[in-house]
Order: sequence, then structure tokens, then C-alpha cells
Amino acid sequence: MSLFDILGQKRVAEMLSKGLKNRRIAHAYVFAGSKGVGKSKMALEFAKALNCHTNTHDACDTCKSCTRIAHYNHQDVKWVKPDGYTIKIEQIRQLQKDSHYKSTESNYRVYIIEHAETMTQQAANSLLKFLEEPQSPTVVILLTENAHQLLSTIRSRCQMIHFSHIDPYHMVETLTIKGYEERDVLLAAHLTEDIDEVQALLESEQFANMRALVIKWSEDIESHHMQALYTIDEKILKNDYIKEYLPRFIDLLLLWYHDIFHMKWEKTEAIVYKGYEQVLNKQALYVADDELIRRIEEILHVKKQIAAYVNPQLALEQLVLSLWEG
Ligand SMILES: [Zn+2]
Repeated sequence: MSLFDILGQKRVAEMLSKGLKNRRIAHAYVFAGSKGVGKSKMALEFAKALNCHTNTHDACDTCKSCTRIAHYNHQDVKWVKPDGYTIKIEQIRQLQKDSHYKSTESNYRVYIIEHAETMTQQAANSLLKFLEEPQSPTVVILLTENAHQLLSTIRSRCQMIHFSHIDPYHMVETLTIKGYEERDVLLAAHLTEDIDEVQALLESEQFANMRALVIKWSEDIESHHMQALYTIDEKILKNDYIKEYLPRFIDLLLLWYHDIFHMKWEKTEAIVYKGYEQVLNKQALYVADDELIRRIEEILHVKKQIAAYVNPQLALEQLVLSLWEG
């Protein structure tokens, strides 16, 4: 892989590559962006590029250094992950200790701190000290989904790099080349920005099952069929996979109702359930705009409840009943 192989992050790759070319490397970076947009992949490629034996502004991917880093087997490239829920001061101290040893095989020591916002106050202060007295040549890369949760004193010592959201259509383009069905990719890409996760969904039978169940359930709900209530116990919660990924199941339902909206407003190009236009159209005929908005709000409410560990059976039953009220 190279910096430019990270899906949808060409702008970031160009920025980093330019810095390498002009030898303007910051002591510390914050890679900020949502889950799955490629922050850690980019950090890995950047670590390779910084230490590549043959290339000056990207990773060659074949030299000894690139290979070792790719296998997480390079003595000067260290990854720090939360130990439990937080990154502890001992973990940062270990980095400081490491940085005193003379590096033998590389241009730059690279420390990549994942979920950097989970650093404890002491860990953050310790890192701050480390950043204030840079042991050149060291590069620290902080990865975070919530840059605002980092100490402002840390942020101000780092070069901020904001990662872009991944355009689902970009994902479609990439994955259809690999032989996946366009409509499957489109739907999965609306559930996660992580291309590996999208691919895993497409490979799993459960994703297709989940989609079919969402559509059938919506039909039962919209026709006020009692089966809509039975389905919760018999199909949704009895399926271990759906039970585990219930928020995703709810997201699929949410996308379905958004599509009813797209259908009503004749924005068919925005539909993500491609191939189900007939079913969508049928449901769109019987529901008024304001009622549709209310339904979407009810589903969003259940999503919050599930996230707050409300009993799923109760929450889903309540959802069906409240959808029937309209
Ligand atoms: Zn290389």
C-alpha cells in the first residue's frame, strides 16, 4: 500500500507526501475523523514513508523497513492502544523511555496513539511534556474520533489533519470493480465508512438476511399486521447476529424510511435500497409527509434507547405501537 491507496483520503495523502518531499515534518500530528475513514491505515503508511529506504515521499512497500512496519514488527514504530478504557501514564512513560535509546535502523521513531482522547489527565500531561521537548527525530501521531476532547495545549502542538467522510458512491466504485453488486455495496456503505467492514458485511449471509427482514417487517408494520409484533420475538431477537448488531438493524430500518421519503419526493436517485422501488412506492402512497417525519423520529428514539441498554423487546414493541398510532 501507499499513502495514496487509502480510500477517499487523497487530500490527506497529498498533504503528507508534500511534507515528506519538502522535508517539513511536524513533531506531532492529530489525525481526526470518524470511525473507519482510514486514520490508522494512513498512520501506518506515513510511518513507512518516513522510514522508507528507497522512496522519499511515499512508501515503496517492498524495502526491509516498509515490510517490517507493515507487519507491526519494526522496533522504532510503536502503537499505543487504550488499556481497558483509558491510555495510562505508564504507557506514555514507556514511549519516553524508548525514545532515549539510540535508534539504529530508522530515520524517524514513530509513535502512533490510537483513541488518543482516552488518555488520562496524567497521561496527557506526560505526553505534553514529551511534545515540548521533542526528541528529534520523533513523530507522534494521535488518532481520534473526537479531537475536541484532546487537551487544547496538546492540540496546539500538533499539526491537525482532518480526514474526509467517505462518499458511499466512492465505495461503490471501488468495490464493484472487485465484483460486488452495486446495490449491495450502496446499502452497506450507508452503514459504515470502513471499507473493510463494508466488505465483511457483503461477504456475510447475515447482511442479506437482515435487509430482507427489515423490508418484510416494514411491510407488516405499514399494513398494521399483528405479525409485526410477533416478528420482534420470533425473528429479530431470536437471531443472535441481529441481536448483536441491533443498532445496525435499526439503521437499516431508518434508511428504509428515508427511502420512502425519497420516493415520495421523487428523489429516486437518492434511494439506497435499489431494486426495491416498488415496495417503497407502495408504502409511500399511504403515509403523509408529517407522519413520515414522526416515524423517522420514533425510530431515532429507539436507536437512542437501544444505545442506552433499554430492554430491546420492550423498545421494539413500543416502536411498533407508536408507529401504529399515526
Ligand atoms: Zn520502503
